[in-house]
Amino acid sequence: MAEQIKAVRGMRDILPEEVRIWQTVESIVFQTLEAFGFEEIRVPVVEELKLFQRSVGSFTDIVQKEMYVFKDKGDRILALRPEATASVVRAYLEHQLYTKRKITRLYYAGPMFRYDRPQKGRYRQFFQIGAEIFGGKSPYFDAELIVILAKIIEKLNVSNYVFETNSVGCDACKISYGMKLKQFLEPAKERLCQDCQTRLQGNVLRVLDCKVISCREIIKEAPVIQDVLCDDCRKHQENFYTTLDDNKIHYKKNPYLVRGLDYYTKTVFELKIGEEENAVAGGGRYDNLVSELGGPETPAAGFAIGMDRLCGLINLEVERKKEICVIFLGQHALQKGTAILNNSRVDGIKIVADYEQRPLKNHLKIADREGVKHILILGDNELQKQIFLYKNMSNGFQKEIKFSELSKFFKEINNA
Ligand SMILES: [Zn+2]
Ligand SMILES: [Zn+2]
Repeated sequence: MAEQIKAVRGMRDILPEEVRIWQTVESIVFQTLEAFGFEEIRVPVVEELKLFQRSVGSFTDIVQKEMYVFKDKGDRILALRPEATASVVRAYLEHQLYTKRKITRLYYAGPMFRYDRPQKGRYRQFFQIGAEIFGGKSPYFDAELIVILAKIIEKLNVSNYVFETNSVGCDACKISYGMKLKQFLEPAKERLCQDCQTRLQGNVLRVLDCKVISCREIIKEAPVIQDVLCDDCRKHQENFYTTLDDNKIHYKKNPYLVRGLDYYTKTVFELKIGEEENAVAGGGRYDNLVSELGGPETPAAGFAIGMDRLCGLINLEVERKKEICVIFLGQHALQKGTAILNNSRVDGIKIVADYEQRPLKNHLKIADREGVKHILILGDNELQKQIFLYKNMSNGFQKEIKFSELSKFFKEINNA
């Protein structure tokens, strides 16, 4: 036998059973975003490496360890996107979308790639749906993003969720907090992991999202950014929290939440379900990213939902579409019957034909094994009478359906 090729490590197939759940979740997410005025943008999966170095940040784990980087035949250094905010910002600038609307609301959906250690709910190709708002600096925009996520999660019948929130401050706040944090960590340097010792020199805030237990122990005692926030950042945060309160959003302040990307300013947040440690969605404000990528000063904020994780956590019963199996007995019935069937098909119900010739009882055995309840049979007798014979496999009920009433019958079954 020939060698069988398997999916690449960390990449997976999502089978129809699971896709049904995904499609339901996707349509809830898209409808909610559209209702808040977001429009879809589609951006490429491949970008220049430097886009991510300059946005996500050179000192982040994502850029340093987890990116798929390659050279194409034209010697360009490219990367599979590890996230899509950078691409959306690039597109926003490239097409000067800021000249079209004062506030631009965009959403995207698609696969992202990170060369991470595969584990439950975490894959090297994973799927995100994200939203970005450009041009608004008010904390109401930050709150709007959280309200959208809350509406989505409630439509999915999840009630045990919480938002963790924090502010990472503006550039000035980040610098003064960074200094304070460095002072605090310096004496404990020997006990920090190798990566964190490097982070101490590069980007000290990254120590806060280290997963190593010994580092986490030290971080527990670290100073918090709230103590150094400037007036502007503090006011922004207060208004943000007031708006969340007014909207009855369930949130918890986490003073050490920084997210794994460098571009955030002020508000950051994560959405968690139940006791799960990993977030199903996260985001925040990134007021400097647009200008850092060569555009005009443009405040912005956004979030991304991890669809693999979300769809794995929710308990959603999605009903299968109804299915009718059509059996043709004999060459003549098959020849005449397929066109009659195809002309009568209606949307919303699955009508599948088995064109193979085999005895009726074998056909019925297969239908029974595959759980098909509704059967239509066309043999020479039926053809002559211009009818299909309908058979309900669950209760044995039978009746004749005229060719001319086939579409009507399909609709009836679908609506039953
Ligand atoms: Zn500040
Ligand atoms: Zn560490």
